[in-house]
Amino acid sequence: QAKDKGRNRWQFYDISMTVKARERLNLLGDLRLALARKDFELYYQPQHDMVSGNIIGAEALIRWNHQQLGFITPDKFIPLAEESGLILPLGEWVLETACNQMTRWKEKGIQLERISVNISMAQLHQPGLIARVEGVLERTACRPEWLEFEVTESYLMSDPVEAGRLLAQIRSMGIMVALDDFGTGYSSMSYLNALPLDRLKIDRSFVFKLPDEDEGAIVRAIIAMCQCLNIGIVAEGIEKKEQKQFMMEQGCDLAQGYLYSRPLPCHEFEKYFANLPEFNQNDAQTQSLIQ
Ligand code: C2E
Ligand code: MG
Ligand code: MG
Ligand code: MG
Repeated sequence: QAKDKGRNRWQFYDISMTVKARERLNLLGDLRLALARKDFELYYQPQHDMVSGNIIGAEALIRWNHQQLGFITPDKFIPLAEESGLILPLGEWVLETACNQMTRWKEKGIQLERISVNISMAQLHQPGLIARVEGVLERTACRPEWLEFEVTESYLMSDPVEAGRLLAQIRSMGIMVALDDFGTGYSSMSYLNALPLDRLKIDRSFVFKLPDEDEGAIVRAIIAMCQCLNIGIVAEGIEKKEQKQFMMEQGCDLAQGYLYSRPLPCHEFEKYFANLPEFNQNDAQTQSLIQ
């Protein structure tokens, strides 16, 4: 009887594996098609200066508008795009779209300092990356100073020397470099000094627990270290006033999170941007949220 149970269990396992594999295969096929049809959209999440409350930048975040399934978040398809190599054309579409948007915003007089784009490791290591980026900037009339690349810790740690070389090249073009999701990968304190970084984004898993004492100590230490190394700090995932208060007290420069705004489609981002000063004057409650 025990044997039967065991057999059934394995059979069940096999079937679920097959289903999973088929789902993945379908999704990969769909992703190829979506890329050809450009069924994607960029959302923009404002980045606020913690002291003045002003919007300094925006992070571009991709959304897949799937024909049958509706909007799909990047966690569901970016890993698949990375494994399959589709991240290269997809990443270029993201970069070009973000640069285009930035140029249009500048033309409209929207005072945004820069736009942040997430860059995968495969993109970073792509041969001819610099020429490709230059091509995008030229086509979109976007200036390199308007742009920031976000790369994650785990990407960099797999080959820190080569990654450092590539990031230095990007920075020499005038593009800023931010280290994303800091604290989630292998700890990289010793590499921080060696890597050419402008900013570090403290992962929201730390911010989430603030002002808890242990997390607070870690965040304080990260900020102190960045200040010594002359690296700017961005807090991710600020949802609560207490989290914002804590980060401000520690001297964090920039913040993004649901407390300020969720990622928004471009026209809503523009509305949010336009209404911000008005809120500041007229609505004390909103003001306390923003500043
Ligand atoms: P990320 O770069 O760390 O982006 C921040 C994520 O946190 C976004 O999720 C954003 O919607 C979410 N977030 C922002 N504020 C809050 C908050 O207050 N609370 C909570 N709970 N979440 C918040 P999203 O848009 O689902 O993106 C997930 C990840 O997918 C990104 O993490 C990034 O690693 C990746 N990704 C997104 N767009 C692209 C892209 O164009 N290219 C590449 N290579 N990766 C991308
Ligand atoms: Mg990011
Ligand atoms: Mg992040
Ligand atoms: Mg993240």
